[in-house]
Amino acid sequence: MADWKDGFLKYKGENIRKVNAQRIAQSRPDLCGVPILDGAGVLFSAASEAHGEPRSCYNCNFYNYEKSCRLMEPSLIIKKVTIPLKPEASSKPIEYWPVCGYWVYGQPNYGPAESVAKLDPDNAGLGWVNAPETGQERSGTSCGGANGGDDCDLWLTDEPDKRQVKNGFCRVLQHDTGNLDCCSAWQDDDWVTWQEVQERLKEVKG
Ligand code: SF4
Repeated sequence: MADWKDGFLKYKGENIRKVNAQRIAQSRPDLCGVPILDGAGVLFSAASEAHGEPRSCYNCNFYNYEKSCRLMEPSLIIKKVTIPLKPEASSKPIEYWPVCGYWVYGQPNYGPAESVAKLDPDNAGLGWVNAPETGQERSGTSCGGANGGDDCDLWLTDEPDKRQVKNGFCRVLQHDTGNLDCCSAWQDDDWVTWQEVQERLKEVKG
């Protein structure tokens, strides 16, 4: 006969096998498919947290202005680059802006470079994104690329020009987000890796 205390069943030795079997069943991977991430899972930041600006190192608190990032190896040069770095008559120069998943809105450090950590740039998601024009005051990432930014390939809209759209569907979060929202899962086929930028900057230095 079951033994109850304060409305709860008191387990005895003979109940343990059944309880363990239930625990195993509950912790098995389910067959529902890929888990849907929430905002915390992709370091989501709302448009209001970015003051309506696209995200780049140039409006990030961790940035040592035109030098490096406080969170990464100080020898990694982090600044806008224009590719081709050496102008060639046949190609239009495109300006690329640096950004990573640890972006936090704020003023860069304009003084001597500081360092508080040495994160792996691959794990931090460091890379360079192309601005629609050279010489803009702000560029960088957001879901829809409004206000001079670059849009995310995972943001779906019916309109051909995403920059004109207020809301769109995020394939990662599986719900609508705003044009100037963003997250660390942002993706674009024009992404330039940090390794490529470092190589190109070395070429220019000679
Ligand atoms: S559309 Fe892209 S940047 Fe925006 S929340 Fe989804 S994955 Fe992140």
